[in-house]
Amino acid sequence: MAETFRLLSHADYTVGWICALPLELGTARAMLDEEHQALPRQPNDENTYILGRISAHNVVIACLPHGITGNNSAATVANDMARSFKSIRIRLMVGIGGGAPGEEADIRLGDVVVSKPTGIHGGVVQYDFGKTKQEGRFVRTGTLNKPPVELLGAIARLEAEHMSRDPKFLEYISAATTKHPKLSSTLAYPGKESDELFNATYDHKVSSATCDDCDRRELVSRPARHNTIPRIHYGNVASGNEVMRHGRTRDRWARGENVICFEMEAAGLMDRFPCLIIRGICDYADSHKNKRWQNYAAATAAAYAKELLYTILPGDTQVISSPTELSECCSSKLSSISTLNHGNYTIRTVYYNSQECLSRRNGYVILYPTRAGIPAAFPNFLMLRIILLVLACFP
Ligand SMILES: [Zn+2]
Repeated sequence: MAETFRLLSHADYTVGWICALPLELGTARAMLDEEHQALPRQPNDENTYILGRISAHNVVIACLPHGITGNNSAATVANDMARSFKSIRIRLMVGIGGGAPGEEADIRLGDVVVSKPTGIHGGVVQYDFGKTKQEGRFVRTGTLNKPPVELLGAIARLEAEHMSRDPKFLEYISAATTKHPKLSSTLAYPGKESDELFNATYDHKVSSATCDDCDRRELVSRPARHNTIPRIHYGNVASGNEVMRHGRTRDRWARGENVICFEMEAAGLMDRFPCLIIRGICDYADSHKNKRWQNYAAATAAAYAKELLYTILPGDTQVISSPTELSECCSSKLSSISTLNHGNYTIRTVYYNSQECLSRRNGYVILYPTRAGIPAAFPNFLMLRIILLVLACFP
């Protein structure tokens, strides 16, 4: 019997997920726990959507028009999506990107880079936007929005969880291929022997489609990993209108602007569709780049996005500004509390059982930055910004 998809309304969708390439759309779709029926197109909306559910979130996925990638196209798709789906509060850009491995980020193919404000940047740097000054010197100008604080809190929580357990990449990719057997070979791990990083100064042989003729003595020697579970790197993502495919230029921008990944859409989104950028690393943004890792990298990025959505519990978001407000919110509702301390955040998850929702669990996740050296405790809230995600009635 044919599968029957549920039909929801535009207002039911709270997660907006944008991808640039059909292969990214295919892996995004494979990560859905359930797919929904298509909805009628809204006036002046050119996008085609895939609708579904991940965890308790209803997710709307859109892809850039075939062959029209880049910042402007991403901005158009995001605008149309935001107009048609007015309840969206979690925004993600998920796909592949070029890694910029360095001393701080030992990036390998298949790893995932997630945009996170680092140094002077807010998580996304439009590196080719600026002025050319005297003697041809290029000076980058302008800044972009940061990802929403709710998403930054969620990635901090997930980062903390991954300190004590492995990410669920392999589990989610395996589940996707079980559900969609045709994807098994497409999403297969390409093998670490094909993960080759050449010295930035060594360019690819122009006439060769593969790196078979490239000089193996120019490979960067990197320690072997103990397993094939992709790693997650948090930092600034460089976004530009042209494909980065030159090792020395990559390194110059990576060092100068403190970026760990290159892509082509984020800069078009951040100001009007403030989102988290999640990029599976499919090449090293140098002249040796090829497409071999693209499908797998798209799958690891989509799997990270899925795990993130399982971390974010549905409900309303409230910013709490005083301890009194917090205690009013929490009093009589607490039944258990778990706390994780990580870096600049303390993550406190509060669960309670509500008599109004007998069969459901309600919970709060409270994230508040703590100053270095100050223990996380309620009396210190006065001097801290407190963010409370009120999480209602999740199944
Ligand atoms: Zn090569």
